[in-house]
Amino acid sequence: DDTLDTSWVLRWAELAQHAVSENRIALMELDRAIGDGDHGDNLDRGFTAVSAKLADASPDSPTAALKLIATTLMSTVGGAAGPLYGTAFLRAATALGDGPVDAAGVAALLTGAVEGVTARGRAEAGDKTMVDALRPAAEAARAVAEEGGSARAALAAAADAAAAGAEATEPMVARKGRASYLGERSAGHRDPGAQSSALILRAAADAAAG
Ligand code: ADP
Ligand code: MG
Ligand code: MG
Repeated sequence: DDTLDTSWVLRWAELAQHAVSENRIALMELDRAIGDGDHGDNLDRGFTAVSAKLADASPDSPTAALKLIATTLMSTVGGAAGPLYGTAFLRAATALGDGPVDAAGVAALLTGAVEGVTARGRAEAGDKTMVDALRPAAEAARAVAEEGGSARAALAAAADAAAAGAEATEPMVARKGRASYLGERSAGHRDPGAQSSALILRAAADAAAG
C-alpha cells in the first residue's frame, strides 16, 4: 500500500520542526538581508508549538492533524508568514477527503495550500515569495498524479520543485511583503519564505519515504 495516513502527517510535522530548528539561523540571515530578520525565529516557535499540540491531541485523521497544525501556526508564528502558513495548512486539510492520501490527494493538498496562500496574500508567480516554491511544487505533484505515480513520488517531485523554486527567487525583485520595500535591492537574495516552504515540503517527502 503506498497511500499515506495520519502517522505521515505527524512525522511530517516532526521533521518540519527539526528542519526549521536546524535552519533557524540560515532563515534568519535570509530574512535579515531583505526583511526584518525574524523568519527563522517565527517558524521555530510555530513548529515547536505544533509538536507540543500534536503530542497532546493525538488527531485521528490527516485532515484533523493538518487543521491542528494550521490553527497552531496561525496563533504562534505571527508576521506575514503566520497567517499565510496557517491558511496553507487549513486549505490543505480541507482539500483532503476522509481516507488515506494517494498521489491525487497529495496534489489536492498542495493545490489547496497554494490557493490559500494566494487568496490571502495576492502574490503572483515571480513576486519573490513562498508562492514561488509552493506553486511549482503543486504542479509537480499534479503531474505525478496524472501519470499514475505514488503519493511518495508526488511528494518527492514536489520537494524537488520547491527547492528549485526557492533557488529561482534569488534574482527576483520582490513585489509583495516586507522585501518589496527594498525594490531592486531585494534582487540577489533568496526569499526566506520560499526557502522555508522548500524545507517544509522536503520534510513532507522525507516523512513519506521513511
Ligand atoms: P514578516 O515579513 O512579517 O517579518 P516573516 O519574516 O515571518 O514575516 O515572513 C516573510 C515571508 O513571508 C517572505 O519571505 C515571503 O515569502 C512571505 N510573504 C510575505 N508577504 C507575502 C504575500 N503577500 N504572499 C505570499 N507570501 C508572502
Ligand atoms: Mg520577517
Ligand atoms: Mg516580522
